[in-house]
Amino acid sequence: MSAYDYIVVGAGSAGCVVARRLLDALGCRVLLLEAGGPDAAECVHRTDIPSMTSMWGSPEFVWDYATTPQPELGGRVVPIPQGRLLGGGSSVNAMMYVRGNRRDFDGWAALGNDGWSYDEVLPYFRRSEDYPGGSQEYRGSGGPLKVVDYGSPSDASRAFVRAAIARGRADGTGDYNGPRQEGLAFFYQSTRDKDGRRSSASEAFLAPVLGEPGLTLETGAVVTRLTVEGGRAGGVEYVKDGRTHRAVAEQEVIVACGALASPALLLRSGLGPAAHLREHGVEVVADLPGVGGNLQDHVLFGVGYESLRELPFPELLSEAGLFTNVLGGDAPDLQFFFGPVQFIDDRYKTDGPGFTFAPILLQPRSRGEVRLRPGDPLRPLIDPHYLEAAADLRLLTEAIVLARELVSDAAFDSLRGRELAPGPDVTSPAGLADYVRASASTVWHPAGTCRMGRDGEAVVEPDLRVRGVDGLRVADASVMPVITRGNTNAATIMIAERAADLITASARR
Ligand SMILES: Cc1cc2nc3c(=O)[nH]c(=O)nc-3n(C[C@H](O)[C@H](O)[C@H](O)COP(=O)(O)OP(=O)(O)OC[C@H]3O[C@@H](n4cnc5c(N)ncnc54)[C@H](O)[C@@H]3O)c2cc1C
Repeated sequence: MSAYDYIVVGAGSAGCVVARRLLDALGCRVLLLEAGGPDAAECVHRTDIPSMTSMWGSPEFVWDYATTPQPELGGRVVPIPQGRLLGGGSSVNAMMYVRGNRRDFDGWAALGNDGWSYDEVLPYFRRSEDYPGGSQEYRGSGGPLKVVDYGSPSDASRAFVRAAIARGRADGTGDYNGPRQEGLAFFYQSTRDKDGRRSSASEAFLAPVLGEPGLTLETGAVVTRLTVEGGRAGGVEYVKDGRTHRAVAEQEVIVACGALASPALLLRSGLGPAAHLREHGVEVVADLPGVGGNLQDHVLFGVGYESLRELPFPELLSEAGLFTNVLGGDAPDLQFFFGPVQFIDDRYKTDGPGFTFAPILLQPRSRGEVRLRPGDPLRPLIDPHYLEAAADLRLLTEAIVLARELVSDAAFDSLRGRELAPGPDVTSPAGLADYVRASASTVWHPAGTCRMGRDGEAVVEPDLRVRGVDGLRVADASVMPVITRGNTNAATIMIAERAADLITASARR
């Protein structure tokens, strides 16, 4: 049995950052365990949309998870692939770089999570990043993660930005990762270098330290269980090449398997709601009722149009965007993806050129759960309860009205063809709602299943220690108490940066 100072489980967006920063700060022995393969280098070049989407269907690169049938989506099962390789989600994702809204982090702090307000997390966003330009106060340069502006947006995306401004949905263009997110129409920034290569967490944070004596990296290593004795997490069991291995952590174990697999690992290890564990024959190590609950995800769907003119194929899944407020309140509740492709269900598509508005529910009220699956604990049951809260469905139906308002603007006059989906005949509230139910899907942003907080349902403390267990933290998208307003990779990397600082501070105490 080998011994290390720290064991990091999962080399995804967060795990790569935690391992790298611990090595840098403490010069310690780190074991980084990743279930998937070492092919991140190959993914660096898979940034065009066809290669990227083919990765999402390939078990070589992803966990091919799917939800349970979703009652509010007509009983549909929604595929929700998650990265399964070095870099995790950051090696397969659509690379859009969105930090979130100031109010997201201030909201976390207001829930009792000291240290997570926007002003306190901003230095971590800045530390990770290498972005040429932008405000010195808000943006970072010289960090490992490369972030670039969109190259050459299509005429359709330029029309989207003009229409958003003309219709009063934005007061200008600008850096939505800068002083303010709301009120701007923009072209998406992405985690790529200036030559267009993907800047995944593994490329950015891990590759430079591979070969350092302190780092032991095991790929193809599926962690089956955390070993907890006398209230302390002492290590892990993992399966590699068909054999079970054990490793000891003399300081801490950090779980970073993502918001679907981290709670599943805790549950397999006897950390979770006692009744659920007993039902599955798992010995209760710590009764933590919140593990696997509070699942939140962003839902999107497409409102598609024919284009009167040919449009260039985009560099990113979405070229232009907008954060706006539809139902009222002081922060955006809707995000738009917009791009010069038909990003709609096959049955609506034509062979010709098109463009699509894809509204995203930014702050879902619905809450789902991750649970153990009888007979297959490595493949959890995932039930996001999509659109269960009436307000979620209402907001998305309003989003169709907004998309139609934007496309009716003069900015689209030379481009606007037929509405393909849902189609001009679909106008009644019931018809719009039916379309949303039939077409809504995930943006692959699960979060919140090991949430931090101070109440009885919280899984980790604000310092990310698992409640009631020594030597164990969770650091990934699962600790978000409330999902951020925007794509989740940047915020997850920020969480990992801060986790590494918290762990380093305790090691030095
Ligand atoms: C298809 C797709 C597109 C996306 N597009 C964007 C985007 O454009 N912009 C954006 O900001 N966000 C995007 N996201 C979301 C973003 O990538 C995630 O929020 C982020 O990667 C989550 O990081 P994480 O560290 O929590 O988990 P992950 O990055 O998923 O890392 C978890 C790692 O743990 C490993 N693991 C799991 N279980 C075990 C186990 N038992 N033993 C060992 N290892 C294990 C996994 O294989 C994985 O490598 C996208 C995600 C997907 C899947």
